[in-house]
Amino acid sequence: MDLSVASTPAYPGQTMENGQQHGHPALGAGSRISWIPEQVRNDKNWMATSLDAWGIYVHVPWCHRRCSYCDFYFEIGKSDSKFSTSVLIEWNARRQSFPLLPAETLYFGGGTPSTLSALQISQIIESIKSSQSLQPDAEITLEANPEDLNSSYLTEIKQAGINRLSLGVQSFDDAILKWLGRKHDAKIARNSITQALDAGFTKLSVDLIVGVPGEDWSQIKEAISWLNEVGVGHVSVYILTVEPLTPLERLIEKGQRLRPIEDAQAVAYEQAQAVLIEQGYRQYEISSFAKPGQESQHNRLYWAQGSYLGLGPGAHSMLLQPDGSIYRRHTKGLLAEWLKNPAAATFSEDILDPGHALLESLAFGIRDLLRGVQVKSQLERHKCALPITFSSTVENLKDRGWVIQQDEHLFLTPLGTLFADAVAREFLGM
Ligand code: SF4
Repeated sequence: MDLSVASTPAYPGQTMENGQQHGHPALGAGSRISWIPEQVRNDKNWMATSLDAWGIYVHVPWCHRRCSYCDFYFEIGKSDSKFSTSVLIEWNARRQSFPLLPAETLYFGGGTPSTLSALQISQIIESIKSSQSLQPDAEITLEANPEDLNSSYLTEIKQAGINRLSLGVQSFDDAILKWLGRKHDAKIARNSITQALDAGFTKLSVDLIVGVPGEDWSQIKEAISWLNEVGVGHVSVYILTVEPLTPLERLIEKGQRLRPIEDAQAVAYEQAQAVLIEQGYRQYEISSFAKPGQESQHNRLYWAQGSYLGLGPGAHSMLLQPDGSIYRRHTKGLLAEWLKNPAAATFSEDILDPGHALLESLAFGIRDLLRGVQVKSQLERHKCALPITFSSTVENLKDRGWVIQQDEHLFLTPLGTLFADAVAREFLGM
């Protein structure tokens, strides 16, 4: 599951499909969130400023079964043996629309990408690399479910070129894992992490879901301490959301599951945030915490509105145009059709004009808590002027204590991270 760009809000104040504002005002503008604006001045690698920075996303549309809360597109079962060939046919058909420079990231998301064999992964990476389309030091991430991992598979995918693993652990509590409908238990989760570390994965991310009714907070705290102790460098924290038409929604409606309480979820998120920061993780995005150097470059590309080519059924693509507009494309989640003719699978597309693209870049970019959003470079990138209401909007956000301005950058304050969706709405509504 591609939680890093998931529809699951990181906490009840984040902008996502439900579009509601549930910010928890209990967390004041203190210093619990570690943000270091000084770093921005030394940061030369800000993808949002470049027309040529881009990444590749491969959507793997299979899962072993449906987790109760999931509303993603996938099929139940094992991956099709034609998958890698089909990805490469689509790649060859669409690659020329993207910048000539090699991509900076390659990301296998899903679904469950660890349903692919090491050979399939290797074929895709090798072929993309051999077309000189991937930087030699590119970040190559595979999302994986704990139950799919063992020493030999880990060794093989590392040899294939995967250099970052994102594990869908979600919880270390067997009762909660069962509640969520996950296939693994806590023992399998811990084993998969130690095996990945033993296999030499120095970039390892673990997804956690908090805000599940009945969760044991001391258990979550212990789990985070353990992740730190064993050397996991990146943790993503998401709050459980009850999406429409999911099995979870039906179970709640039938009275077979408790409905999560939003205020309790906000407290759970804040507790996880505080413990992660205590353990030395730096919050660099609303739901992402990392030790220095462990941040996900691919996710940062998304927040910076960088370009990416999405391959596979259900994948999204985005391409910044020379006139500052943004081209967006979504391949429909029609697996059989896509496997048959991946280069001509059904898709929808639209163009975001430069003015609207600018507003989206401001709204998304400010989620990067370390780099903030650099207004001047966004203007250059989208080749348009700021809306006349920009200054008054920013002043208003500053008055509320949600945003600060340093040099040419806007940052969310610690308080503002709890109201990120409201800040985004303000920018989008200018
Ligand atoms: S592993 Fe579970 S949460 Fe992830 S995409 Fe599959 S069904 Fe959804």
